[in-house]
Amino acid sequence: MKTIPFFDYPKLWLEEREIFLSIIDETSSNGSFIMQSELEVFEEDLANYTNSQYSIGVGNATDAMEIYLQAIGLQKGDEIIISSHTMLATASAVIQAGGIPIPVDIGPDNLIDPNCIEEAINTRTVGVLPTQLNGRTCNMDRIEEIISKNNLFLVEDSAQALGSKFKNRFAGTFGMGSCISFFPAKVLGCFGDAGAILTQDENIYEKSFQIRDHGRDKNGEVQCWGRNSRLDNVQAAILSYKLQTYENVIKRRRSIASMYDEQLSELDELILPPAPNSNLDHFDVYQNYELAAKDRDDLKKYLADNGIGTLIQWGGQGIHHFKNLGFNQNLPLTDKFFNECIMLPMNMFIEESDVEYICEMIKNFYRK
Ligand SMILES: *Cc1c(COP(=O)(O)O)cnc(C)c1O
Repeated sequence: MKTIPFFDYPKLWLEEREIFLSIIDETSSNGSFIMQSELEVFEEDLANYTNSQYSIGVGNATDAMEIYLQAIGLQKGDEIIISSHTMLATASAVIQAGGIPIPVDIGPDNLIDPNCIEEAINTRTVGVLPTQLNGRTCNMDRIEEIISKNNLFLVEDSAQALGSKFKNRFAGTFGMGSCISFFPAKVLGCFGDAGAILTQDENIYEKSFQIRDHGRDKNGEVQCWGRNSRLDNVQAAILSYKLQTYENVIKRRRSIASMYDEQLSELDELILPPAPNSNLDHFDVYQNYELAAKDRDDLKKYLADNGIGTLIQWGGQGIHHFKNLGFNQNLPLTDKFFNECIMLPMNMFIEESDVEYICEMIKNFYRK
């Protein structure tokens, strides 16, 4: 039987092991471990790639959000509207920065619903933090309109969306701050935890730069309370190397998405994500290929029995499902989606024949 893991972690390393070893050897032999030129180079590469004014390497994307929210000057009790269809990290970052995350429902695109943002705004609301999920950027026209009409700030969770665009603007460059994650299974993954802040605002850049390194500015002078959340230099060197060919990664992921779309769109039991080029306002990078499926749990089991790994994002829980954390919202579209969602293998290691096998098995399941 063929086996197709959902994500092949050893392969991430083994595919270019010799090159990675030489990068690690070179930076380590120079003693370049913390905040050396490799980090500065990567920060510049990332800013250039995303057409962003500034980028700051940090420990992970969750830290990135905490740090930019602190840099913005979030006050205790300030409310920030988020999608419930996101990782717990989006909400926890708001909490750690002193604010209150308010999860709202999703629209038909499974991303935060602008109408629900409007309904949730009250006198305590200070900002909106949409998640650019699965490698797709939200309809930012509507969100920007709401922001400016209500005098709120916009920040982004673009942990999953490096290279994704809406109307030719990169995810992560719409708001005052955003995060990118380099967790191994993310579109640009390294060999451990790492993340970055993108910002277009000089003050937020300066402040975030200081906070990630004990409040120290470029001259080593302490300017504010900070913490330690520095992106490892060795990881930065690896990320710079991988960013050089990142366009190929996006191309390949988009082509896998097209194959899935061609072979699965005939099934009425599935609601697929938008195909590449189906709406030219959106340029998706397919961090995930997440769909809604009838009899989802049985389908998942059937695919597992046939050697195919799938994943239900965040164990099938949105933010408002975490009752132990005090959430009690009623968000019907998010509930519905979490009952049906499943992610198919989407990464650089699967072959065309794998996609064909996966689609064949899905068709077999519904023909039963
Ligand atoms: C992965 C992810 C994060 C967290 O990223 P880390 O680098 O692991 O902290 C935040 N939000 C979303 C939507 C994610 O997918």
